[in-house]
Amino acid sequence: MSKCKFCGSGSFGSCSYSPHGKHEHVSIGNKCMYCGSSSFGSCSYSPSGKHKHEPGNVKCCFCGSSSYGSCSYSTSGKHEH
Ligand SMILES: [Zn+2]
Ligand SMILES: [Zn+2]
Ligand SMILES: [Zn+2]
Repeated sequence: MSKCKFCGSGSFGSCSYSPHGKHEHVSIGNKCMYCGSSSFGSCSYSPSGKHKHEPGNVKCCFCGSSSYGSCSYSTSGKHEH
């Protein structure tokens, strides 16, 4: 089971130890770092409002696409890998 990198909790949502106020999980696999969902798009647990998967993957962490360029799910407007 993954844990919040700021407080070690296994839950999602508000985190009083986090700089952005939300639990952020590491080593969660192909899932949103903020809520544990495998989907993409709007996320109510994310500080940016978007699901974000762990970076360092071949796929975009906001939409799961393996392409580069403009991304409608990304907070920066670009796919991020
Ligand atoms: Zn936390
Ligand atoms: Zn999410
Ligand atoms: Zn993308």
